Amino acid sequence: MEFKNAFEEIEDRISRGLVSKDLEPIKCKCGSTEYKDTIMSVHDASFVLEKDRYCAKCNALMGAWAYGSWLP
Ligand SMILES: [Zn+2]
Repeated sequence: MEFKNAFEEIEDRISRGLVSKDLEPIKCKCGSTEYKDTIMSVHDASFVLEKDRYCAKCNALMGAWAYGSWLP
């Protein structure tokens, strides 16, 4: 049931336009579509391993990227 709830929560976020279908955060809960990425870890100075995405308006954490995909 936990999996189902998590899945439904992601579906809900996609349907509200907060995240794209590949889970990229594109809109904050405050309604802002402006964001800034903070790179947490880099491989070979060019390939980003991990980054956090924050809302540019309210500074809320919108999502995190790690090793090639957005974390749900
Ligand atoms: Zn916000």
